[in-house]
Amino acid sequence: MGELRDFTAELLERRGAAIEAMEPDALEVLAPQPVRDAMGWPELALLGFGSQRPNGAIPIAFEGDWLDRLGALLGEQGRWSERQLTISPRASVLCDPQRVLEHALDLPNAVWRFQRMTETFTRCLILTFRYTAISDEKREGLVSLGFNLGTGAVLDDVLMRMQRLMAQEAEWQTPSPEVRAAAGGGWDGQRLQARVHPLVEGKVKGDREPFLRAMRRRLERDQNRVHAYHDDLRRMSLKRLAALGVATGERAETDRRRETLRVAAVEREYRVKLDDLRHNYALRVAVECLQALDLYVPVLRLEVLIKRRKGERLIRMDWHPLVRAAEPPPCEAGLGFGRERLVCDDSLHLTEPAGQAPCPSCGKAFCRACHAASCPLCRANVRGLAAP
Ligand SMILES: [Zn+2]
Ligand SMILES: [Zn+2]
Repeated sequence: MGELRDFTAELLERRGAAIEAMEPDALEVLAPQPVRDAMGWPELALLGFGSQRPNGAIPIAFEGDWLDRLGALLGEQGRWSERQLTISPRASVLCDPQRVLEHALDLPNAVWRFQRMTETFTRCLILTFRYTAISDEKREGLVSLGFNLGTGAVLDDVLMRMQRLMAQEAEWQTPSPEVRAAAGGGWDGQRLQARVHPLVEGKVKGDREPFLRAMRRRLERDQNRVHAYHDDLRRMSLKRLAALGVATGERAETDRRRETLRVAAVEREYRVKLDDLRHNYALRVAVECLQALDLYVPVLRLEVLIKRRKGERLIRMDWHPLVRAAEPPPCEAGLGFGRERLVCDDSLHLTEPAGQAPCPSCGKAFCRACHAASCPLCRANVRGLAAP
């Protein structure tokens, strides 16, 4: 419970409250009027955070609506922040850039050559999203994604390592003007949206997969149950109809009509029940951007010459000394994970392998970075791969 207590103490202090830490796991708070109103506390409140609380302490926990109230107190603050991380000069040495690139870059249809390495800073954008998936049950989760705005690379593994590092690093350093200048500008809204949208979708999909699997199992179980129940009823009526055989007479006719109507009613009810189930299990997903962090970090920038047929092109890949890892190569069509890229003939774009795949309609292979919307030959719509 230590983190919740520390967060509460810091937030209340920033809102003008006087805080005294008490043992075990409690805070004594002298709060100004707006804080008292927002939280529903008296002027002097004793807050307990652990299972062992002092007498008379108000229990604060993740349960209940305390997080909502603290969130209301926080308002829109903390939605965006910027931070710089630095490193001692000795740690930023990379002895064998060629070897690093061999591990980080895989170009099956082109050759590459390492050109030079420069020490600089880059700006990484880290976005955190909350998603809420609701069907018969509800699941909430957080996903983060990051880009190196200097190279266009997606930070996957590098991001996870950096998040661990930031959690350990207590000091919050604001970016200096020199570092800002070295890192360069950001992306415009359109470019950012084109990259972020498919990535968030992919991440949320991956994260909610266990929830979906469990939901499908419950749906299947309910469908089987509904089917078994109605199937029994229908079978019984059919059996009675069969028993009537070719019998004639008024009594037999009435029975036959009744059982035929019953079969029709059972079939109708079965369809209605299935529709109800489908409705109950329909999945609605809402995604909301919670937080953006502009992170300025030192990098070793590796310039690499790419050659394909008669063309050549220089690309940049950063090695991050803070986490001692290279980021994936840039990607101009597709999500940008992994190390494999195909190079296109016309403009030497780097894309995921799927970004050079044949057109599903006419079969001609073409580059999704050159032709993002439709096939150049048959004009079939191929949207779905992200363009930067
Ligand atoms: Zn086509
Ligand atoms: Zn291309």
